[in-house]
Amino acid sequence: MCLEPEYHGLNRRQLLAGLAGGAALSGSAGCVATNAASGRESFTGFRSIKDDIAEGRANHPKILKSFGGAYEERRLSNYVQNIGLRLAKGAEYQQYPYRFTILNTQIVNAFALPGGFIYITRGLLSLASSEAELAGVLAHELAHVTARHGAERRSAQQVAQLGLLLGSIGLQAAGLPSGLMQIGQTAALAAIKGYSREHEFEADTLGIRYMSQAGYNADAMATFLGSLREHSQVESRVLGLPPGKLDEFNIMSTHPRTIERVKQAQQAAAQSNGQGRWGQEDYLNHIDGMMFGDDPKQGLIRDQTFIHPILRFEFRAPDEFHLRNSPTRVEGRHPDGAMMVFDAGPAKGAQSAFDYLRHVWAAKSQLHDLESLTIDGLDAATAWTTGRGKKGPVRIRALAIRAGQKQLYRFMFISPQDQTGRWAQLFRRSGLSFRRISKRAAAKLRANRLLVVPARADDNIAGLARTLPYGRYNEAWFRVLNDLAPNQTIRKNQRLKVVAG
Ligand SMILES: [Zn+2]
Repeated sequence: MCLEPEYHGLNRRQLLAGLAGGAALSGSAGCVATNAASGRESFTGFRSIKDDIAEGRANHPKILKSFGGAYEERRLSNYVQNIGLRLAKGAEYQQYPYRFTILNTQIVNAFALPGGFIYITRGLLSLASSEAELAGVLAHELAHVTARHGAERRSAQQVAQLGLLLGSIGLQAAGLPSGLMQIGQTAALAAIKGYSREHEFEADTLGIRYMSQAGYNADAMATFLGSLREHSQVESRVLGLPPGKLDEFNIMSTHPRTIERVKQAQQAAAQSNGQGRWGQEDYLNHIDGMMFGDDPKQGLIRDQTFIHPILRFEFRAPDEFHLRNSPTRVEGRHPDGAMMVFDAGPAKGAQSAFDYLRHVWAAKSQLHDLESLTIDGLDAATAWTTGRGKKGPVRIRALAIRAGQKQLYRFMFISPQDQTGRWAQLFRRSGLSFRRISKRAAAKLRANRLLVVPARADDNIAGLARTLPYGRYNEAWFRVLNDLAPNQTIRKNQRLKVVAG
């Protein structure tokens, strides 16, 4: 163990100051701060393995909470855990209690906490096509753990991250804290912070070694990165983001990598001999039947309507808004720049929606035209304020609906200042569409499933893609799911991933 007790709590700057003073490190003269996996000398040498594990343990529940919990389907989760453990067998730092968890979200990502806690989302699993591709992702994350990259970037600024998140809805703090800020403040978010390109290269090089040792074909690292890139491009179009811009939760933004660099990593690892197992059949057999899209427990998007069968309410977004659900909020975007964010907030003792809007939610904002109203028999209040978006001033319409003693539902409707007139009525109609739904209506809502089926002679891509929930991007999405190039057709008996309601 490298850590001397007196260095507990010292940050990197204090350590550097100590180095300059020449005295502070004398106690650890015999301590080699070289990482066993990367072979690099590193400041993390002053953090103990125990510290890593404690940090991972403490943040594991927060990760689960922020990403929809663990996806509990025993056969699939055992499969992922066993592949992970097989990879970890060849890794350094056997002291870590390696644990591989599937997160119950359609977001496409994988990440790791220090101490051996590794996560992969259901959304990412739906895109992979073979066990080797899955192993490549797990091996890459495993390498971030063994190279202790998380510990090295521990001091990265939370403030910058917060700005990034607010930036993702194009809004600078206008005094209206949204759900975004709440996740921005959890330490768990550090896990999905982007790594540097150097760390990515190192994770690929080590990951390729781990997967080769476990008998997998290391080419899968590059092929799957290709699929992830295709997916992120389709997703940007679905979300109405400008070309080349990525969603901040997508794996391509948290792990900046290029296929070129992965191939270089393969050469650096000197283990790219094109051999090893792909395990395509095994993989498809295991993901057959997996939930696809939103879990009804977290609410469902059906066309322009968001429905929550557990909390039992629904509302309708204005036409052409693309809605997206995440564990903490529902976000909608219009191609012309208008946005909406829906979430829930604690009442913090406020006695009415009016009181809440003025003294809790928007306590720091200058509100205009604050008024009370009733929506579907519930106490509500609304007002507007101004803020700054990426492209200039915006008007923000805030609406709070009291759902009970402890919680309020909140809408933020955001439009560029010069489009205020165009949106006023449409936002109003969307807010007023909020209503509670019956138990019976709620019980009818079921999750979509990913099925793996052999193509029939008369199947075509347009027909099979129709079951996807992405409207005019269905076919593009279908091709990404099934590794089909733009003009490639399907052949009879080819095993294809389709979505069933
Ligand atoms: Zn990475």
